Amino acid sequence: MLKAPASILIAEDEPAISGFVRRGLMFEGFDARLVESGKDALEVLRDHRPDLAILDIMLPGVDGIEIARRVRSAEEAEGTRPLPILMLTAKDTVADRVAGLEAGADDYLVKPFAFEELLARVRALLRRAGSQAVPESALLTFSDIALDPGTRIVRRGERSVPLTPREYDLLKLFLTNPRQVLPRQTIMSRVWGDDFYGDWNVLEVYVGSLRKALEASGEQRVIHTVRGVGYALREPDAA
Ligand code: CA
Repeated sequence: MLKAPASILIAEDEPAISGFVRRGLMFEGFDARLVESGKDALEVLRDHRPDLAILDIMLPGVDGIEIARRVRSAEEAEGTRPLPILMLTAKDTVADRVAGLEAGADDYLVKPFAFEELLARVRALLRRAGSQAVPESALLTFSDIALDPGTRIVRRGERSVPLTPREYDLLKLFLTNPRQVLPRQTIMSRVWGDDFYGDWNVLEVYVGSLRKALEASGEQRVIHTVRGVGYALREPDAA
């Protein structure tokens, strides 16, 4: 029943942007691959045929507009399915947008942008392309816990569990990696980004409040501390 996640190529040479985009997409269940030059982007596009490409316009070597142009002409020559292309541009000028769209981009996003905005465009493009692997609506469940990524509603048994956005992200990470021991640094970088790297107190506080919310009606603990390492989501009985 599980489908392979949609694969996304990110061609972006600014680490500040590529880092959060890649992390965010992986967190959302996509298979995201990062390259930092136009040449590498063309190679990945040819050899791996991702489901979608996010192309920065200003790339070293071959720029995003030229990549899009080559992709489209190859598709025309080979009669292959069009690759959904989302263009990233720092220059919020009409000329730039027009050039990107004329070169064959399906949509564009002006930097700086919020991750949620990028995610919405990515999902829309994949849906439009008929991708079978948009990891969005699948209900995440574990034991008596259910998280609906579409509505962001979390339930434990019959009751709904109100969570802050950060608690929600944390729970979602556990639900996508059930029974695995998640090292603290992994959790921190996936949920908070690298800014908070090493600040374990923040994590302890949030795990504490998430547990409190999940155990508010006297339910058993599912998020367990793995001493000296991190945390793991486990069935109450398997604790
Ligand atoms: Ca760039």
